[in-house]
Amino acid sequence: MVEITELKGDIWQVDLEERGEPGSTAGYFIKGDRDWMLLETGPASSAENILEAAAHIGIAHQQVKHMGVTHIHIDHAGGLGTMCCYFSEAKLWVHPRGIKHMIDPTRLIAGSRAAHGEKKMQQFGEILPVPENRLTPALDGCNIHLGDRVLEVWETPGHARHHVCFYDTITRGLFSGDEAGVYFPRLSKLLNRPVLRPSTPAPDFDGALMQQSLNRLALYELEAIYYTHFGAAAPAQFLLELVIGQLSIQMHMAKTYQAEQDALQKLGIAVRQQLAQGLGLPTARAGEKLDQRLGNEIDLLLEPSQNSAAGLLVSLNKNNNLH
Ligand SMILES: [Zn+2]
Repeated sequence: MVEITELKGDIWQVDLEERGEPGSTAGYFIKGDRDWMLLETGPASSAENILEAAAHIGIAHQQVKHMGVTHIHIDHAGGLGTMCCYFSEAKLWVHPRGIKHMIDPTRLIAGSRAAHGEKKMQQFGEILPVPENRLTPALDGCNIHLGDRVLEVWETPGHARHHVCFYDTITRGLFSGDEAGVYFPRLSKLLNRPVLRPSTPAPDFDGALMQQSLNRLALYELEAIYYTHFGAAAPAQFLLELVIGQLSIQMHMAKTYQAEQDALQKLGIAVRQQLAQGLGLPTARAGEKLDQRLGNEIDLLLEPSQNSAAGLLVSLNKNNNLH
């Protein structure tokens, strides 16, 4: 049975069980008085979870008039082509930079394969092309009307150049994709404080752009953040301040290590240590004594450190080229 969490304000969080892993990637159904919207499809292999959740909540397929993805990475949008066959009335909101890669996913598939490897690609499922006439550019300031409910598109480059967030005017909540970091609900509950990390993957991450986007988000009086990885959390302002602080420390560390030999490896270790120390748990096999889903969260927190480091270093070069 798929895990569905009914949130306040007529929003349902669905565990997409990305590549069979519960608690890693969420999609959200949002109800207006006329239409429904699905935010984030996840990869194609998550389609069954979405369909099961729609049936359980009582959403007829033709009521889903909008689908949005925060960016075109495979774990967020790989299933858009699959889901648009089921939700055949839905308009598809994608950042203009991502649209051509949804219509012809050849480069997206190649880039995903390079980033994730063949085994994970199998687990993600096939990226199907999206019909051009279904796609709408998710431009900054666009309003999406679900009847009485309006969602706003905010362009938020940084994690990738093709990243947008969706702001819900009813709950003052933000569907943040990967821009505001990755949130770990079980660790947060265990430690009684929010645990998160910035998402800075190579090759798309741009640190200067993420700082600008996060500073912009922090200007709004947001209530909640609906993380794709993973789940709803509040208070938004505190969560944003945390991720802004972590990002600034990591960018500073990247500058410190940049000129050294083995900069990538050293920075990867430093990022991992920073995150592990934040937990107050020892770095090595920190998850061993905890239950499995907590252990998974610790792996999800610490394992991407090397790729985060690569993204931080690549970003320094991008930012240098700008000046
Ligand atoms: Zn992601």
